[in-house]
Amino acid sequence: MTRKTIVLANPRGFCAGVDRAISIVERALEEFGAPVYVRHEVVHNKFVVDNLREKGAVFIDDLADVPPGATLVYSAHGVSKAVQAEAAERGFQVFDATCPLVTKVHKEVARLDEQGYQIIMIGHKGHVEVEGTMGQLPAGKMLLVETVADAEAVVPDNPDKLAYVSQTTLSVDETKDIIAVLNARFPNIKNPHKEDICYATTNRQKAVKDLAEECDIIIVVGSPNSSNSNRLREVASVRGVDAYMVDNAGYLQQEWFAGKTKVGITAGASAPEVLVQEVIETIKNWGHETVSESEGTEESIVFVLPKALRKEQSANKS
Ligand code: SF4
Repeated sequence: MTRKTIVLANPRGFCAGVDRAISIVERALEEFGAPVYVRHEVVHNKFVVDNLREKGAVFIDDLADVPPGATLVYSAHGVSKAVQAEAAERGFQVFDATCPLVTKVHKEVARLDEQGYQIIMIGHKGHVEVEGTMGQLPAGKMLLVETVADAEAVVPDNPDKLAYVSQTTLSVDETKDIIAVLNARFPNIKNPHKEDICYATTNRQKAVKDLAEECDIIIVVGSPNSSNSNRLREVASVRGVDAYMVDNAGYLQQEWFAGKTKVGITAGASAPEVLVQEVIETIKNWGHETVSESEGTEESIVFVLPKALRKEQSANKS
């Protein structure tokens, strides 16, 4: 009888930006006590958000819900200039948990705008990172392109003074196709870094592509609103492998594994390893005996905390 196995993607789970964002909320709670207000879910993971909520974090989407004098944390996805201005005007103590790789895109938008470029944002409409990045400029100034069809139809003011930036958690392959259309239609379009998809998204998609080569089913641990987790499931699915995304082990269904001999497991950048371990245990209970870790790209990136929250971080490490 064929031995049923589990292979774990490498890398998977938390990235440096998520690690930093969670630490900022935890440290703010330690330093200033509950409640600490967080604009939007600090990272898109239900387990993480519920955990921080229990410790005293209050998640809000509208600054009108934040009382005067409160401590406010911006989520890892970043915020618009309008949100920053409102927070400053209302005098909140603000800690910015925007991932530095998202901040880099915000700075790029400001620079390109100063140089007179009209900017196309490649990203998903309504995603909070896209709202934050497009909100670096006044409403309506940037153009949003979500798909190849959008790229074929977009009408800029001046095709010779055009640039693009992208959301950090897109599908690498789909974004390449969109960029190819933009380059073909607008040969003078400025593309500072090709695209802004971050190292964590790129590495996790590469790892799941490799898994899809050898597995007959892929499980992605991630919450439904996590962009990078959704992309991991799609990357596996377009390769013809059964792929499911689950928030936790409770969502697994035993019939998915009938006749499957090799299960690949990965996790989105906001999904903690504890949830992966619970998924492994459940699948093992259903008869997959061995667990191995695939070879992959080593990640060593760490982002430092804001200065005011750093003291204990250094003390813990010493
Ligand atoms: Fe930063 Fe990428 Fe992680 Fe998002 S997925 S928080 S951009 S490192």
